[in-house]
Amino acid sequence: MTTEPNAITYKFYINGEWRESKSGQTIEIQSPYLRNSVGKIQAITHDEVDEAIHSAHLSQKKWAYSSLQERATYLYKWADNLVEKQDEIAKIIMQEVGKGYQDAKKEVVRTADFIRYTVEEALHMHGESMMGDSFPGGSKSKLAIVSRVPLGVILAISPFNYPINLAASKVAPALMAGNAVIFKPATNGAISGTKMIEALDQAGLPKGLISLVTGRGSVIGDYLVEHKGINMISFTGGTKTGMNLAQKAAKIPLVLELGGKDPAIVREDADLLEAAKHIISGAFSYSGQRCTAIKRVLVHESVADTLVSLLKAEVEKLSVGSPEKDSVIVPLIDDVSADYVQGLVNDAVEKGATVIVGNKREHNLIYPTLIDHVTREMTVAWEEPFGPILPIIRVSSDQEAIDIANESEFGLQASVFTSDINKALTIANLIDTGTIQINSRTERGPDHFPFIGVKGSGMGVQGIHKSLESMTREKVTVLNIKD
Ligand code: NAP
Repeated sequence: MTTEPNAITYKFYINGEWRESKSGQTIEIQSPYLRNSVGKIQAITHDEVDEAIHSAHLSQKKWAYSSLQERATYLYKWADNLVEKQDEIAKIIMQEVGKGYQDAKKEVVRTADFIRYTVEEALHMHGESMMGDSFPGGSKSKLAIVSRVPLGVILAISPFNYPINLAASKVAPALMAGNAVIFKPATNGAISGTKMIEALDQAGLPKGLISLVTGRGSVIGDYLVEHKGINMISFTGGTKTGMNLAQKAAKIPLVLELGGKDPAIVREDADLLEAAKHIISGAFSYSGQRCTAIKRVLVHESVADTLVSLLKAEVEKLSVGSPEKDSVIVPLIDDVSADYVQGLVNDAVEKGATVIVGNKREHNLIYPTLIDHVTREMTVAWEEPFGPILPIIRVSSDQEAIDIANESEFGLQASVFTSDINKALTIANLIDTGTIQINSRTERGPDHFPFIGVKGSGMGVQGIHKSLESMTREKVTVLNIKD
């Protein structure tokens, strides 16, 4: 691997200080498309993790008593700083995870909006009070005040694909709710995460409330997750990593957002041109490296040929190349991911699927690939590729589409395309998924909507209000009034 002439060695952030790790070890971050090093991050030690968690607890005690207005001041400033630095941060996101520059800028601005909305939501959340006399034998002399209190120290672990947005969507509600945060970014994404924390540091957040702990998940992940000082974990990443984590993190609240295999169900009465446009943008944006990408099409056989030719025409319009040119199809995060995606295509072809377009590769750049006549025997029918390939499964009825949709280990989102709203709602009711989109691509957001993965796609709910709730608990104070 070559190193960019100006590649920087970034520090980690602990107790209000930027430091080099005592391990003396760093990790090179390789750009997926430049194919050279864009910088180094610190590989921190277990002792440094302990210190981060210890200082988090110390500062959280005071923070829990700070007013919401005080917390809001820091978070608003953080949002402003991110907007100010949007060009610089977008360039890092682009280089580090290979996301198109304009999309990277949108991610930064969306994150600032997310932070501001989180502040507003927290400012407007209320507790409740209850009188004792509504229960048999109770009396008006008892008054319960139900308030929400922070959990303590939250471990936030984020994936590579939205290195700012999916990190801030944990950090902002955690801080606003009165917690301290230990933030572990994905290794590819850690430089973007560092820039995000710089913006928070520059907002003047009191020391200790946020720590940036960098290092490979395989090295420090288990130590963090099993650490007795962690009171709640908010994780976004792959299903395998999340499931392992869930087994290790006994007895603390967990919110998991994991992988998906979102189906687009296309009925015979759908507007096929419109459906094709949504499916292509859903499946191929950022080379399909989105949790909510459309990852399979279940189309009624009577309209399958027409849909396939429309999809083909749309795929042929997709730009392929560099994120610097805002190409839709960009190199995947690394060669291992590209090998995996290629393996899925090869398996399908060997088992009799038809490649309509694509199946071409240069290193980790996989050209957009449409695979028709995919059957249940093919691995691509079930596995999440996280790449620009789209399997098409032909079905003979709504029921068959519903069965195949539900047979998946995942349940993040699904789309149904139809001109019959009654059919749409019937199918929506029968699909076992967190969210179902009617006549649109699967996607996260707007960010205040609840965001849910069921089955292998997650546990618990995100979305601004829900995240604030999941990072707090209820506390009841009972006032016993003397007559
Ligand atoms: P990943 O490989 O599972 O990594 C996710 C995070 O977990 C990274 O920070 C990683 O650190 C860390 N990690 C690895 N091993 C760990 C361990 N033993 N303990 C604790 N943390 C550990 O996922 P990814 O490749 O970054 O992201 C792609 C996946 O995320 C896809 O499956 C996608 O569907 C899913 N995703 C889901 C959502 C959603 O909202 N449902 C959103 C986005 C992405 P390192 O990078 O250092 O290994």
